[in-house]
Amino acid sequence: MSRVFHRHSNKLPPIGTKGGGVYLYDADGKAYFDGSGGAAVSCLGHGDPDIINAIKQQLDSMAFAHTGFLGSQPAEDLADLLVDHAPDGLEHVYFVSGGSEAVEAALKLARQYFLEIGQPERSKIIARRQSYHGNTLGALAVGGNAWRREPFAPLLMNVSHIAPCYEYRDRRADETSSDYGQRVANELEQEILRLGTDQVMAFVAEPVVGATMGAVPAVEGYFKRIREICDTYGVLLILDEVMCGMGRTGTLFAAEQDGVSPDICTIAKGLGAGYQPIGATLCSVEIFDAIKTGSGFFQHGHTYVGHPTACAAGLAVVQKLTQGGIVDQVSAKGKQLRDLLHQEFGQHPNVGDIRGRGLFVGLEFVADRDSKAVIDPSHKFNARLKTAAFEAGLICYPMGGTIDGKNGDHVLLAPPFISEDHHLEEVVSKLSIAVSKVTADLGM
Ligand code: PMP
Repeated sequence: MSRVFHRHSNKLPPIGTKGGGVYLYDADGKAYFDGSGGAAVSCLGHGDPDIINAIKQQLDSMAFAHTGFLGSQPAEDLADLLVDHAPDGLEHVYFVSGGSEAVEAALKLARQYFLEIGQPERSKIIARRQSYHGNTLGALAVGGNAWRREPFAPLLMNVSHIAPCYEYRDRRADETSSDYGQRVANELEQEILRLGTDQVMAFVAEPVVGATMGAVPAVEGYFKRIREICDTYGVLLILDEVMCGMGRTGTLFAAEQDGVSPDICTIAKGLGAGYQPIGATLCSVEIFDAIKTGSGFFQHGHTYVGHPTACAAGLAVVQKLTQGGIVDQVSAKGKQLRDLLHQEFGQHPNVGDIRGRGLFVGLEFVADRDSKAVIDPSHKFNARLKTAAFEAGLICYPMGGTIDGKNGDHVLLAPPFISEDHHLEEVVSKLSIAVSKVTADLGM
């Protein structure tokens, strides 16, 4: 019996004992290709000696100091490096321990900013359906994932949810991609007008939707229109790059490719690359200055804010990502992965869409390609796929079931950036074994 409170108490995972390169190993020595980096975490694979050494050095010098008393050099250097590579205007970095904490800090930063500039009536948040922003209560309220929210609904603050940008399912046949993007972006304006133009504090979105939709980027022009609407009504744009940031889509920050700069941006996962738990909330100089010249302190905090060892790991990761040319190869590797997936699944009757950006790639499964009918949720397609892939030696991230009566089963692939050609082929062939098993078991 395990006394660890696992998520599934009647289905315990095997004990993992080793990580090396793109593989993880269990206690029986079985190797698993880490095809999703857990949940898009392990961007540099496992056992990287440079990151491990950076952590060891920091442990030897000063493992921890509370930032209420002492700062640390790794935190300073990491903040500088992130700001050097961040979208224009993001100039200050608040370090936390993970993605949900980064989102919570973003929300409180936005609220405090409006208090500081004398607009206390601004407290309303608009986000999107079929999104995920974390499991703490604030972040959960912002997310639009129906089944995660449902049990906790009475505990959640009120957040408006507009449509995501989900071309595969929502673009009308008589619309161009661009017209579709403008139409759904304009839902933000309608919602701001409905709530009251002086009431809304922030709009929150993932540039490329990860956990709830399986690597769905917005169509070109969508985020530019969103930025325009936010500017018109003085609403802050918070982009959640917890999953899609840190090079995953081919640029260090995903928003670069959408041609927009947010007022606040959250990152985590790839920032620590799994070597340490760390997240961060970046904000504009306007927000920072309003707080600095106003009350003078951000009314927030956790014990492990700016944890020196976590920052040392983050620094080593981001140095590697930005100085080693690794991120520059992500777009080409991602295209190669999608090409391989098209070869393998392009004609598959149950694969409706192959999509993504960089090494952030998704497949959506359907009962019927023409009608895009979702697979009966009682089949538990994605849970079966997770098990079958794991048995085949592949860790991938299948999610879904019917959400909002629409979004079907999908799998997210996010292999390490160090993956070579033959590794990407291995991911696709193992996934193919798993898909064949599940479709055969279900008689599809
Ligand atoms: N935001 C996004 C976009 C995420 O994908 C996640 C995690 N999947 C989170 C926030 C929450 O991060 P964490 O699990 O580290 O709290």
